[in-house]
Amino acid sequence: MATSVRVLGVRVDAVDTAGAVARIGALVEAGGHHQVATVNPEFIMLARRDPEFARILEAADLCLADGWGVTWAAKQLGVPLPGRVPGSDFLEPLAGFAAERGYRVFFLGAAAGVAEAAATALRRAHPRLQVAGCHAGDAGPEGDAESLALIRAARPQILLVAYGHPKQELWIERNRLRAEVPVAMGVGGAFDFVSGRVPRAPAWMRRVGLEWLYRLGREPWRARRMAVLPAFAIRVLLAAGR
Ligand code: UDP
Repeated sequence: MATSVRVLGVRVDAVDTAGAVARIGALVEAGGHHQVATVNPEFIMLARRDPEFARILEAADLCLADGWGVTWAAKQLGVPLPGRVPGSDFLEPLAGFAAERGYRVFFLGAAAGVAEAAATALRRAHPRLQVAGCHAGDAGPEGDAESLALIRAARPQILLVAYGHPKQELWIERNRLRAEVPVAMGVGGAFDFVSGRVPRAPAWMRRVGLEWLYRLGREPWRARRMAVLPAFAIRVLLAAGR
């Protein structure tokens, strides 16, 4: 199997959940300052319009396939991926792995109190999880000093950043060297789901790839962002020569 696939120019790494956890472990052990992204069709369409966002994704150390749209596209392009690694589902196994390895995890972003609630929920599932800190903070540069002070003092191995795209990728790009964290990962709305603040779609909808429809029903403002999806599908089919 190929190690990665390019979907309309954006690299997506061919790893399943276990592979993603192992890669993150290797990045932590390697030291340095690594970036992990969870790529969905909206990321890919934004990268086509925004060269800075495209450059950040290209430079990321690990690009996970966040959702059904990306695995569908990879299949159309003849390079099937081993599975989806949606940010919201991934935090639980990642927390288990961090607990096992003794990695400290910092939760940055989302609305006030949500990072704490997500950390508490993950600690309930993995009591040995070391929560280095939680901070809603501000996604823009004006919030950097305060967030960086907290993160540097907490010395985490893994920093989860929940500001949605592209803010979280820009935050990591801007701050990863100063944060002194081996792995920083953008996780979108994962804290909202993990904390139970936003309910997940029923299992059957997730299974058949309709989670987006459920989210759209609950948060109709997403329609504008999702408007890129038909163009994404058409471009993928054209690229696949159909
Ligand atoms: N968020 C935030 N600050 C911001 C913008 C967003 O904390 O300035 C949080 C928001 O509360 C939510 C997450 O970022 O928890 C965005 O989730 P979404 O599912 O929209 O992420 P995306 O799909 O854009 O990656």
